[in-house]
Amino acid sequence: MDTSFSAEDLAFRDEVRAFFTEAYDDELQARLSDKATFREAVIDWQRRLYEKGWIAPNWPKGHGGAEWTPTQNFIYETERAASGVRDVVPFGLKMVGPVIYTFGNDEQKERFLPRILRSEDWWCQGYSEPGAGSDLASLKTRAERDGDDYVVNGAKIWTTYAQYADWIFCLVRTSSEGKKQNGISFLLIDMHSPGIKVNPIVSIDNHHSLNEVEFNNVRVPVSNLIGEEDKGWTYAKALLAHERTSIAGVADSKRALAEVRDFAAREENGGRFLIDDPLFQQRLSDIEIELMALEYTELRVLASVAAGGAPGAESSLLKIKGTEIQQAIQELRMELAGYYQGVLPTELSPEVLGHSFGSDARQAFMYGRAATIYGGSNEVQKNIIAKAVLGL
Ligand SMILES: Cc1cc2nc3c(=O)[nH]c(=O)nc-3n(C[C@H](O)[C@H](O)[C@H](O)COP(=O)(O)OP(=O)(O)OC[C@H]3O[C@@H](n4cnc5c(N)ncnc54)[C@H](O)[C@@H]3O)c2cc1C
Repeated sequence: MDTSFSAEDLAFRDEVRAFFTEAYDDELQARLSDKATFREAVIDWQRRLYEKGWIAPNWPKGHGGAEWTPTQNFIYETERAASGVRDVVPFGLKMVGPVIYTFGNDEQKERFLPRILRSEDWWCQGYSEPGAGSDLASLKTRAERDGDDYVVNGAKIWTTYAQYADWIFCLVRTSSEGKKQNGISFLLIDMHSPGIKVNPIVSIDNHHSLNEVEFNNVRVPVSNLIGEEDKGWTYAKALLAHERTSIAGVADSKRALAEVRDFAAREENGGRFLIDDPLFQQRLSDIEIELMALEYTELRVLASVAAGGAPGAESSLLKIKGTEIQQAIQELRMELAGYYQGVLPTELSPEVLGHSFGSDARQAFMYGRAATIYGGSNEVQKNIIAKAVLGL
């Protein structure tokens, strides 16, 4: 792709900046950081994006998307991260939405897609199970046909934001015959159905975003099956490739790294700046170089997707590198917090580190351990590259 910006691109960049300044206001940000108002604030933010026409940049126009060019995507993401604006919740807009418009029937498209675009339904992802993570095809949650319904029994785990969700897209076993990948179906399940129980899981950062979801004789209309019965593995894989591509988080890493560089050069400890430590400087530069290389790889993948391709094994590469870089930056932030640990809060510049930097850095570091696990662990991504790219 051409990475030089045209006058049109620059005008788009200005429009994005102006929109964030106006629409992502302080009041909204306060509600987003409060547990009690988080869900409604996310919906509120996503509706503002919807009204602007920017809620689904990569969906086809025919389904209500914006069909941005890779350059527009790049500009938007860079500005979003630079302004500290949160990304949309991916489960509806980036995961099940594309599955529905690609593999769903007309009735499903009409029923679900407009509600996803308007954030009227909050979705979550029911893939993993207690005994099926990396080896996802071993999943055991069963859906048995009974008249016009499936009856679902089993449990999903690590289900992010299930506590807020109206719908869950699930992989369920509809057959035990033949290869285990063949008997899996892709089912949309109303979270308000009788027989569903959500059990919270508090993660190492002391926050609650994860859950276990139990299904006890949950009746799901057969009309909620996507595509063909027993063929869900194909749809699930298409979704995972997109999921991995967006996990790379390049724009957010760029912002986080720039912030580390800035803080290390502006905050003093006993007359010294951390940036003057040659070892710290070298680590910072190494990560910057890796990130720049990743950014160009991501742009190449986005350009080929925009030209009609689907992300393949490249998405595994983006996921591995992107999450390793995120964790390296989180470690640097912890080091930064540690370096200034002994400085009295009154001596810290409020506009640089302030008093919550240490706890924010710790929380991001703790939760960040998960990045090399979710979306398919990095070890498993290496296996995919070994097989699909290196032919081993
Ligand atoms: C924060 C977080 C959020 C999540 N959100 C969701 C969600 O919303 N919905 C959802 O469905 N799932 C979600 N997951 C689950 C996630 O997809 C799984 O954790 C992941 O696929 C790994 O599965 P597992 O936890 O069962 O680990 P396991 O598969 O048991 O793996 C354990 C270890 O063994 C390694 N390993 C396993 N197999 C191989 C192999 N063949 N070769 C080499 N090494 C291997 C793994 O890399 C890992 O280090 C989330 C997970 C986390 C941590």
